Amino acid sequence: MLSFLAPAADAAAAHGPVNPWVALAYLVAGVFFILALRGLSSPATSRAGNRNGMIGMAIAVVTTLVTHDIANIVEIGIAIFLGGIIGVTIARRVAMTAMPELVAAFHSLVGLAAVLVGLAAWLNPGAFGITDATGQILVASRVELGLGIAIGAITFSGSVIAFLKLSGKMSGSPILLPMRHVINLGTLLAIIGLVVAYAMSGAGGAGEGMLVVWITLAAFIIGFLLIIPIGGADMPVVVSMLNSYSGWAAAAMGFTLGNTAMIITGALVGSSGAILSYIMCRAMNRSFISVIAGGFGADDSGGAGGELREQRPYKQGSAADAAYMLEQAEKVIIIPGYGMAVAQAQHALREMADLLEERGVEVKYAIHPVAGRMPGHMNVLLAEASVEYDKVFELEDINSEFAQADVAFIIGANDVVNPAAKTDKSSPIYGMPVFDVDKAKQVFFIKRSMGGVGYAGVDNDVFYMDQTMMLLSDAKKMVEEIVKALD
Ligand code: NDP
Repeated sequence: MLSFLAPAADAAAAHGPVNPWVALAYLVAGVFFILALRGLSSPATSRAGNRNGMIGMAIAVVTTLVTHDIANIVEIGIAIFLGGIIGVTIARRVAMTAMPELVAAFHSLVGLAAVLVGLAAWLNPGAFGITDATGQILVASRVELGLGIAIGAITFSGSVIAFLKLSGKMSGSPILLPMRHVINLGTLLAIIGLVVAYAMSGAGGAGEGMLVVWITLAAFIIGFLLIIPIGGADMPVVVSMLNSYSGWAAAAMGFTLGNTAMIITGALVGSSGAILSYIMCRAMNRSFISVIAGGFGADDSGGAGGELREQRPYKQGSAADAAYMLEQAEKVIIIPGYGMAVAQAQHALREMADLLEERGVEVKYAIHPVAGRMPGHMNVLLAEASVEYDKVFELEDINSEFAQADVAFIIGANDVVNPAAKTDKSSPIYGMPVFDVDKAKQVFFIKRSMGGVGYAGVDNDVFYMDQTMMLLSDAKKMVEEIVKALD
């Protein structure tokens, strides 16, 4: 009875005793992965963090290759070589603005790999060493297999939808099906029931096979259902949540393959992604459970996105006007957003800030947790332009300073400065904390046209405020012109 509660014995039977040298090598790799996460927690140490991650992965891969009975090392070598070439080419070519969708696409591959490994283990369990003396798949291995396939399939279909939304191939607005929470809950319970039934099922046969097929299909469907209702301000949380799922999928694969390094890496990615999602939810004033439950609480009216926008008067200025007023200012707070990344305006921006500082103006940068299209997007760009870290501030640390600022300089940001998040309950960004730019004496707003909207697709009252001057142009071009005027 309840024999699946004895996984340790099963695991040993499944994969045999672990060579202590292999265990040590995987442990060292695990330490490098932890150092990688530690390094990635700050822009100043992120390069070292990345290096540590690469060293850890190299140790894990080499250990696996030299200590396993590899059927065909040449085939594996060719696969690694081709995969490496594809990875390097994509990494070199991808624009910074396309990183989020690339990350989503990569997560979908991790999910698919987990499903394929699970299905391979189910079809040929002997090759994976997960059978008992009678040739049956061990109960613990069935649980791992069922969960691995389910998490992998959710990661795959969820990431495909995230990729389509982030790349603009599908509308970023929430798609709200009627009774979606009942459908989601029902599907989730069905998956759990199917995994339990599979774990408890006896000898192979068509019935058992169908359970695995149903787990796979139901998990593909719920991944899709959970992500389509997500829109507006909740997408960043979902991106990091899918990152977390991909980690758990890899950990589940590690159990099936009996590979400690994969279990460690998967658990690290899974838990750090979950913690990041939680932190982002808090920063965004969102409920963690609501977001992972598939847009629970999203307004069924669809919010203000996509509504016809009324024509309202606004003031437009030139680079020369902006340069003149910036020179007179004592304190300028720069708010970068997605448009700065599109325009690659960070270097020109840094030059502008340097010129202002030479004239005694205090310049600070205000970074919103969801500015851009991926967590840390703005920090990476500013670091690339060698902006000192001590001039870069998080929302909660700088928001109170707008009241003393002479200029709030918004460059390519929109949703993160939209007061509708505070006032309009029907807005898809309602509840998200935003910068209080309206408290600054003057607001400069760089964007290309009055027609363009932010990711959430809503109008912004800041455009029409008395103290706002719209600088309508490509961000890089406008800042370069301001620099010329300052010079
Ligand atoms: P927004 O997407 O709200 O706004 C971008 C602004 O940039 C628009 O006003 C656009 O107007 C302008 N713009 C675009 N290209 C240029 C250009 N070349 N030169 C000048 N301006 C340009 O950006 P924010 O950073 O304010 O907000 C991020 C949004 O993305 C939030 O809604 C967030 O929830 C969402 N999101 C964030 C993720 C993350 O992890 N950070 C992930 C997924 C979504 P115009 O077209 O007129 O130029």
